[in-house]
Amino acid sequence: MPKFNENYFHLKESYLFSEIAHRVSAYTEKNPDKKVIRLGIGDVTLPLGSEIISQLHEGVDALASTETFKGYGPEQGYEFLRTAIVNYYRKNNVTINPNEVFVSDGAKSDTGNITDLFDKDNIVLIPDPVYPVYVDTNMMNGRNIIYIDANEENDFLPMPDFNVHVDIIYICSPNNPTGAAYNKEQLKIWIDYALENNAIILYDSAYECFITDETLPRSIYAVEGAKKCAIEFCSLSKTAGFTGTRCGYTIVPDDLIFLSSTGAKISVNAMWNRRQTTKFNGVSYIVQKGAAAVFSPEGMAQCKANIKYYQENAKLIMNGLTKKNISCYGGVNSPYIWFKCPNHMDSWDFFDYLLNNAQIVGTPGAGFGKNGQKFFRLTSFGTHNNTIEAMERIDKLF
Ligand SMILES: *Cc1c(COP(=O)(O)O)cnc(C)c1O
Repeated sequence: MPKFNENYFHLKESYLFSEIAHRVSAYTEKNPDKKVIRLGIGDVTLPLGSEIISQLHEGVDALASTETFKGYGPEQGYEFLRTAIVNYYRKNNVTINPNEVFVSDGAKSDTGNITDLFDKDNIVLIPDPVYPVYVDTNMMNGRNIIYIDANEENDFLPMPDFNVHVDIIYICSPNNPTGAAYNKEQLKIWIDYALENNAIILYDSAYECFITDETLPRSIYAVEGAKKCAIEFCSLSKTAGFTGTRCGYTIVPDDLIFLSSTGAKISVNAMWNRRQTTKFNGVSYIVQKGAAAVFSPEGMAQCKANIKYYQENAKLIMNGLTKKNISCYGGVNSPYIWFKCPNHMDSWDFFDYLLNNAQIVGTPGAGFGKNGQKFFRLTSFGTHNNTIEAMERIDKLF
């Protein structure tokens, strides 16, 4: 009989979005005449920009003739896309080399797969509340996790405790679900901590394109010392609406060198390259053509227009909540608006209240960790009209 990885049985039931779907369908069955507005899920709704679409078509056409046909591509991604990503970083004053860029099918896979490189015996630090992937993938490997509280007292931006040693640190900035974003000085403290502890930072910058405050870093490499201690994960999902198209990239700097148990030098870049070339056969040429278009002037302008549309929704939501004396977080450098449920309500109670009384679907904060228990997340990924209508309903509610 095969012996299974029984760490899977220690995973918490991932019931957040299925429970939401269950409660919404129960409600709509009983109330078929009511219009439900969904501001819950973290998925984009606007179509891809026309420049991306046209390059996707070119990618398809290339496969139609022998001269331009593509079979297996480089596991790390085509040179044309890796160079486009390097140039994108350069515009943000960050210098990276193409060999440090690994193109993938998304940041969810990479943030999960990176755990392959680490022994079970590591202390992992994860903020709470958090994107559930970091917790679950480490649980699958049976690793010890220490949580660090992100709450109103620290503006949802926890800082390291220099008296406690950890080996692996997860940071998501701008954050899902809180929308909070670290500034350079704060990231410098995390980097100093990592360098002092020989720890590695796994930095998720999936929402960098939502940063409006020019002083905030879009990449951890904008801060000195980061290349010696951090891997950065990014994705075209939120930047360019690629949630269904699938493309992301991970930066593993050459300077990321640690010592093995025998004292030999370990290049994390070489290790990740070995992992990817063994277990991954690259992203399709078609998708990479579309992805490269994201970084062209026209493509980027179209992506920015979509992001602006969502940012206007975020403003509508923040204004509406503020009017009801609810102080909200996020929304400025993030598509997510995070706020404390009114009247000390628990997040699932507030979910039911909002669904039953205003027919609005949001995400209960409890689904992201214990510090989310009394909080709620609304997203700006809806349409303008629905967002306006949702805020009108909330205005009448209490
Ligand atoms: C949406 C999201 C991603 C993107 O994941 P993909 O697999 O690239 O779609 C990564 N990290 C966080 C925190 C996210 O919310």
